Amino acid sequence: MTTLHRPRIVIIGAGFGGLNAVKRLAKADVDVLLIDRENFHLFTPLLYQVATSGLEPGEIAYPVRGILRGMERVRFLRGEVVEINPSDKTVTVDTGYGIRCEGYDYLLVAAGSRTDYFGQEQIAQYAFGLKTLSDSVILRNHILKCFETAAWTEDPLVRAALTTMVVVGGGPTGLETAGALRELYRYVLSKEFGHQITGLDGRVILVEMRDHLLSPYPPRLREAARRQLEDMGVEVILGQSVADVGEDQVRLSDGRVIPTRTLVWAAGVSASPLAEMLGVPLRANGRVPVRPTLQVIGHDDIYVVGDMAYLEDERGEPYPMLIPVAKQQGTLAAQNILRRLAGQPQRPFSYTGLRDRGIMATIGRSRAVAWIFYRLQVSGFVAWLAWLVLHLITLLGFRNRLNVFINWVWNYFTYDRSVRLILEHQPRPLMWPGPSLPERAAETLATVEAWRVDER
Ligand SMILES: Cc1cc2nc3c(=O)[nH]c(=O)nc-3n(C[C@H](O)[C@H](O)[C@H](O)COP(=O)(O)OP(=O)(O)OC[C@H]3O[C@@H](n4cnc5c(N)ncnc54)[C@H](O)[C@@H]3O)c2cc1C
Repeated sequence: MTTLHRPRIVIIGAGFGGLNAVKRLAKADVDVLLIDRENFHLFTPLLYQVATSGLEPGEIAYPVRGILRGMERVRFLRGEVVEINPSDKTVTVDTGYGIRCEGYDYLLVAAGSRTDYFGQEQIAQYAFGLKTLSDSVILRNHILKCFETAAWTEDPLVRAALTTMVVVGGGPTGLETAGALRELYRYVLSKEFGHQITGLDGRVILVEMRDHLLSPYPPRLREAARRQLEDMGVEVILGQSVADVGEDQVRLSDGRVIPTRTLVWAAGVSASPLAEMLGVPLRANGRVPVRPTLQVIGHDDIYVVGDMAYLEDERGEPYPMLIPVAKQQGTLAAQNILRRLAGQPQRPFSYTGLRDRGIMATIGRSRAVAWIFYRLQVSGFVAWLAWLVLHLITLLGFRNRLNVFINWVWNYFTYDRSVRLILEHQPRPLMWPGPSLPERAAETLATVEAWRVDER
């Protein structure tokens, strides 16, 4: 391919897939434009700890421009991608203060996934998702507000609804959130609100529609996880789904009614809606089918990686929506683009098992389950320690690692959760509020004129 300009590679998403691609391309003779709606990279595995007052939002996010420092050929554009046009090779971005159209030679889409309510509008209206940093802060504010309101509520039914939290989804996120909510209640809220709320219980209920938790884990670890949750006081309900939700209650499929104002939805995700803009038939969870080289079938110059990509492994199973998959795919897609530019054949994706450390889920203080390298099954304190070390290593930025470590040690020994501020921000428009510029100019002139008249 002969180009007069340096090849231009546009990457959508500064998550795990996108950033790994950027790192691989940064030193190559190409121009890179990285686009993300946020100006930070988010470490999703610790989102539930922000939602449950364990960590500050800034401790699990890292500014994109800080990561790109020193990468001269990489530019960053903060904005929402609203259109991908494969026929004229452009991407349209809403920056909040204007629309930009960016052309590309190669496009790498790594826009991740979103909370999936499986088309249940009513649940979507009431439930709290846990996918973005804003989601976690909104949930934190909500829980703290519920307890503050319960402290001054006379009606016992409303009080029960305010202090009962229902988590839907028996995967790692559901377990982690349920466990952390129960600990927040047990070690902190019960002590601070107990004297003001009669009969305070702080129920946490985990609902899963299958007859077991943690589907991909071996039965022994599933049972261990359930036991550990119940020991902490989390009520586990299996084989039930949420039938409907109202302002003060959740009704399960067996007719049981739970009074609550907090429904956390950790039951599923589907690919980013950007998948629909590529004009190809999508696969399970709205993911984009890709060749082993990670190119979109029918669009050779577009690569899709991470949660958005649908690719099957040698057993015919789709690769899971996990960080190591996204990272390895991001790197490979970048390498394949460079190989094409150098006239070399591209390589197929192969998920290196050794680099995949296995799967683990933490349940609470000294409680976790881990299937290390998909061989060794551990639960309890050892699994929890393995989880802590792994998450500290993978967290981006030394300052974040140190802060998180200090916070964990502090919380461990003091049983405290210090991040309990209710902070609600209203985004401010970039333009000054009030009259427009010409109107304000006219107002100023009128005032000056009035002074002059007075002085005369
Ligand atoms: C609560 C939670 C806990 C998790 N825990 C784990 C775990 O412990 N271990 C594990 O392996 N995986 C975990 N995961 C899954 C993991 O986060 C994903 O598999 C991984 O982030 C996928 O990487 P990605 O690059 O495809 O997308 P992401 O990392 O999600 O990045 C997508 C990026 O695209 C941006 N974006 C999306 N749409 C647009 C748009 N229209 N315009 C501009 N920018 C856009 C987003 O802002 C984001 O920065 C967890 C996920 C969640 C939600």
